[in-house]
Formats: sequence, structure tokens, C-alpha cells
Amino acid sequence: MFNDAQGSPTWRAPTWRNDAGTVILATMIDPERITALNRLPVRSGAAFVLYWMQAAQRADCNHALWFAAAEADRLALPLVVVFVLADYPSATAPHYRWMLSGLQKTAAVLRDAGIGFRLRRGEPLKTVLEVAESAALVVVDRTPARWSVTAKAALAVQSGVAVVEVDGESVIPEAVASPKQEWSARTLRLKIEGAVASYASRPLPPVPSPRHPATRIQIPGDGLPGRTGPDEAALFAAYDAAPGPAYPGDRSPEQAFPCSPGEAAGRTRLEAFVQDRLDRYDGDRNDPLKDGSSGLSPYLHFGQVSPLVVISAARAQGGPGYPAFAEQLVVRRELCRNYVRYRPLDYDAWEGLPAWSRTALDSAVSDRRAYLYTRLQFEAATTHDPYWNAAQEQLVRSGTIHNYMRMYWGKMILAWSATPREAFATALYLNDRYALDGRDPNGWAGVAWCFGLHDRPWPARPVYSTVRSMVAAGLRRKFDADAYACAWAPGQNPS
Ligand SMILES: Cc1cc2nc3c(=O)[nH]c(=O)nc-3n(C[C@H](O)[C@H](O)[C@H](O)COP(=O)(O)OP(=O)(O)OC[C@H]3O[C@@H](n4cnc5c(N)ncnc54)[C@H](O)[C@@H]3O)c2cc1C
Repeated sequence: MFNDAQGSPTWRAPTWRNDAGTVILATMIDPERITALNRLPVRSGAAFVLYWMQAAQRADCNHALWFAAAEADRLALPLVVVFVLADYPSATAPHYRWMLSGLQKTAAVLRDAGIGFRLRRGEPLKTVLEVAESAALVVVDRTPARWSVTAKAALAVQSGVAVVEVDGESVIPEAVASPKQEWSARTLRLKIEGAVASYASRPLPPVPSPRHPATRIQIPGDGLPGRTGPDEAALFAAYDAAPGPAYPGDRSPEQAFPCSPGEAAGRTRLEAFVQDRLDRYDGDRNDPLKDGSSGLSPYLHFGQVSPLVVISAARAQGGPGYPAFAEQLVVRRELCRNYVRYRPLDYDAWEGLPAWSRTALDSAVSDRRAYLYTRLQFEAATTHDPYWNAAQEQLVRSGTIHNYMRMYWGKMILAWSATPREAFATALYLNDRYALDGRDPNGWAGVAWCFGLHDRPWPARPVYSTVRSMVAAGLRRKFDADAYACAWAPGQNPS
């Protein structure tokens, strides 16, 4: 179990070196969070410093934003933040509405601080390349997701200007947590738990106030003088119209998320959790009928809350729930990021699973399934099992599933699909399609966990072979599963 008590406050990761000498170190940011993505110099005579915001959709405790602001001050230039709205495969209109509502609030905070903000729509790389032509330096934040890593690598090659990545999205910066793919929570925990105390007690960067306001700056794509590009209000409202189903069986029009979007709402949720529920987290978090966990995953997914703010608040509060919470927030979450970082090509594919579990599941492919469902039947929550249907209803309608039911949900898709590969594709599809916190390393690795990732072989059973199984009786032993099924039965909505 997690224990950061032996963490040394003087623990330091290797120092970052900037071979090209293009940027200086910004105070408040550990050098190991900063990576130069190319060896190009800062462009002289440029009009502004550009921060391409992707993963960290917040103004407060945003290490990339802070670094970009420090560089803008050093170069006596204003700072402009660009966010590009792109069609992400599988995300639903309600997901976009939630994200854009949070982003709109962040944009207002940035502008109040004298930082330019532009919302653009289009192909992200092309859009940012156009803006980068007039930038002195481009700063980017960090997600290990393939589309982002690929676009940033191309930007570094094609932009002709220094591109610097700042990783403020992990408690332990990804680059130093581990140099390789880790096999289990235990192996990662051994490497990082001693460093958590040190990182969790570092100063948190506040909203920066650059010395040169971006009030009147014009950037490529703005159009006529005084304009800031395409109609921003229309872009923020791009998903407000309620579209019908995108395909027969699509349930996205049913989605209504109980949590309010935005940095302030995320902070409020964090404070309430730390004050009222952290102490009983270890006992309550596995009971879907108790409001025992933080509910922060959508805020963490969209970067509306920093994981460093979360760990700092939890650590400052301390108490009996802290070790179990830190285990989930740091070890489990960062294990998922480690998986995505070191399996860039197949973290969301069958091939990303460990060889032992693929072999085991393939060996059981012709075992008789007690029930067989198609993806559309799963999507419609029309299985024989009221507990599973309730979990699917919770996913569709509220955008998340309670963690314990999420494991059961994934394991049963494996049990009731024609083949393990079909099951894997179904679980990944449904999680990415409907989860507000989906399309995330936690989701890709969470689904893969149901198929053996980060786990070990167990005694063999039909269909699962040596992959860990779950059964409905196990739910009933843990909590009042019938009450959960009633709460999420069609027509009910406990949230
Ligand atoms: C099949 C399956 C799919 C999943 N899909 C997602 C997903 O799309 N997005 C997502 O964020 N999580 C996913 N998880 C992990 C986990 O279920 C959620 O992170 C958790 O339920 C979120 O609720 P919370 O914020 O109240 O968590 P809390 O218990 O309050 O934990 C705090 C934070 O720690 C992290 N965390 C907690 N549990 C895990 C875990 N098991 N693995 C990795 N990180 C964890 C999350 O960032 C979470 O917000 C999945 C798990 C499974 C088994």
C-alpha cells in the first residue's frame, strides 16, 4: 500500500538541460517538467509568445501557462493562448458542451490577467502552425495521447521556432517517474512513492500576470484589425444545439452531467471532498451508494483541475484516507500515463495487452458463453443482468460509472461477447463514447486492465482463462447491489 512517509524532501530528479540555450528556467517549475521538443532558437522580432493549450484547460496552477508567461516577460512580449476545437472521434456533443463551458470561464480569467485567448476551429496542427509563424516561442502542455504527441512532434519540425513542452499534468513528471513501461502498480509505486511528498509540497503556480498585456495584439487568423478571428461566441456555442442520435442506437442525446464544468467548480468539489469525505475514502470508495470518492475524474481529464493541486490539498489534510487516495490519484493514474507513454502505437488496441493475457484469452475463445450480446445490445443496456444494465445506464446518462461497477462492467463485457477481441473493442468504444472522463489514459488502461493489463494470472476459469474474473455475487457481498440497480433503472436518475 501507498506510503510516502519515507519520502525525502530533498529528492530531486535529474536536471533538465536546454542544449539549444533557447529558454531560461522559469521559477516555480521543476526543470524535469520542461522538455525542448526541438533545438531551434527563439524567433527574434516576433510579436508574442504562444501557448497552445490542450490538456491543461485552466488558468490556475498551469505549469505550461506559467512557463510561457515567464518567457513572455523575459522577451518583453505579450502572451497569447490558442485552443483549437477539433472533432475528436467518439466524443459526444454533451462532452463538448461541458468542455467548452469550462473553457469559456478559463478564457475570461486569462483575459482579465492580460493574456490573449483565441478559440479556433479546424485541423489543430495546421491552425497552430499558422499562428506559430509570428510567435517567438511555442509552449505546449502534456498529454501522452497519440494525437497530441504526434501533432507536437510535427509542430517542432515544421514551425521553424523553439517548441517547449511543460508537463504539469502528473504529480511526478512522466519523464522521470520511470524510463520504461511498468508492469504493475507495485513496480511503479516502488519508484515514485518516495518522491510524492517532495512534489506535493512545491509551490503551485498561480494565474500569471504578464508584464506586457495582450490587449491589442493581432495574431494570424484574426482577420480585420480589432477582430479576434471567427465569431468566438458562435464557436463556444458550436455544440449547443441538441442533435439527434448520430447512428441507430446512439444514446448521446440522453446525456446530462450532474457536475458543473470549470476550474472553480472543480476546486469547490475538491475542497468539499477533502473536508468531508477524504477521511472515510478507504472504507466508502468501493460502495456506489455512498458518495465516497472525489468525483474529480472529469476535471482531471479536461485539465480543469491540476493533479498537483489535488495531491497538495489531500496531503495537507492528511488523515486515514490519504494513503488510499494518493494510491489512486498518483500511483494508479500515473501508471495509466506510463502505459500510454510507452505503448504509443497500441495503448488502445488488443496488441497493447500483455502477451500472457492475450494467449490466455485466445485459448478460451471457444468456451461456451452463458450469454451473448452485441455492441448495440450492450449500448442499449438490455442484458439479463440488472446490475450491469444499471452501470451502463449510469455511464450513458451521467457520464461516469462508479469505479467498482466500472470493473464489473468491463469484466462482464468480456464474459458475454462472442470473442475477447470483440469484447475489448466494445468496452473501449462504449467507454470512449459515453464517459465524460473517457478518451483518457485512465480509460484506455482501465479497459485493458479488465483484460489482464497491470494484473497477474489467476486460477483458470471458463471464458476468462487465467485473467481475473468477477461475478454478481461479489457485488452483493460488497454493497446493496439491488439498491444500485433500482437507482439506475430506466426512468430513475439518482443524480
Ligand atoms: C473499465 C474501466 C474504465 C475506466 N475508464 C476511465 C476513464 O475513462 N477515465 C478515468 O479517469 N478513469 C477511468 N477508470 C478508472 C476509475 O474508475 C476512475 O478514475 C474513477 O472511478 C473516477 O472516479 P473519482 O474521480 O471519484 O475517483 P477517486 O477514487 O476519487 O480517485 C481520484 C482520482 O484518481 C484517479 N483514479 C482513481 N481510480 C483510478 C484507477 N483505477 N485507475 C487510474 N486512475 C484512477 C482518477 O484520476 C480519479 O479522478 C476506468 C476504470 C475501469 C475499470
